[in-house]
Amino acid sequence: MSAPLVADLHLHSHHSDGVLSPAALIELCASRGVTQAALTDHDTLEGCLEAHAACARHDLKHVTGVEVSCGWNGQTLHVIGLEFDLEDAALERHLADIRARRAARIADIGERLERKARLPGKALAAKILARDAVPTRMHLARELVAAGHAKDVGDAFARWLTRGRAGHAPIEWPTLGDTVARLRGAGARVVLAHPHRYELSAGALRRLLGEFRAAGGEAIEVAVAGIGPSDLDRLATLARNHGFAASTGSDFHDPAIPWNPPGRFAKLPADLEPLTARLA
Ligand code: AMP
Ligand code: MN
Ligand code: MN
Ligand code: MN
Repeated sequence: MSAPLVADLHLHSHHSDGVLSPAALIELCASRGVTQAALTDHDTLEGCLEAHAACARHDLKHVTGVEVSCGWNGQTLHVIGLEFDLEDAALERHLADIRARRAARIADIGERLERKARLPGKALAAKILARDAVPTRMHLARELVAAGHAKDVGDAFARWLTRGRAGHAPIEWPTLGDTVARLRGAGARVVLAHPHRYELSAGALRRLLGEFRAAGGEAIEVAVAGIGPSDLDRLATLARNHGFAASTGSDFHDPAIPWNPPGRFAKLPADLEPLTARLA
């Protein structure tokens, strides 16, 4: 009997807000028994070829991936594209536009931290903008921790970066519909990431899933690292009711954060169709 497939289809490298190189990430995946991996950095395809080569070396199945930021009814959502054409020019333009919006937001947040909280926000933002091709609030959170303004990344978000805090700055993401269309245009299978994490009522979440499906989405993440049994149940029910395939992933960013290492997530309920069954 062959060993079971452990498909981690949600992973980050230092090309977005993770800390490992794609090669080191895939090596860690291999050492933890992952057999199929998708590097899904935020809004960039930069690490995909390195991940692909590393998977070949470690005998893992590789799936091309990306996690794309978009907006729906004033909420930020994350949509994952898998198994698409890396050379698609329209997708690359879409992602480059998001990176530019991110850079403007980080500068805006830095300015607000400086003005409203008397923190060295402009210098921290300038450092990130000079270094990180996908500048995220996670980078800013890490810099705030390093400069002694928060005890850890979670604290930095809660204290400085979330809604109502000094460093909260609005950002306009492309719409869900445009995002799914762009990914489909590149041939991607499209997955809604971590649906339980959005601040949506049950009714709004059902509406979102209906629109996501109509736009061309075919799967939702169900077995996500750190999910509790009641959320897992809720997502499994939503996948059944809307006819979505179910995806699995750790959303791993950083080996220093021990609760979601690559390959660690719940088992999918047996009656759901795993998205892996549709992958090449
Ligand atoms: P951004 O995409 O720039 O808004 O950055 C958000 C990234 O930071 C996400 O991709 C998560 O990895 C992480 N993140 C968001 N909210 C939190 C939080 N409250 N605590 C810790 N990490 C967070
Ligand atoms: Mn992230
Ligand atoms: Mn996400
Ligand atoms: Mn993620």
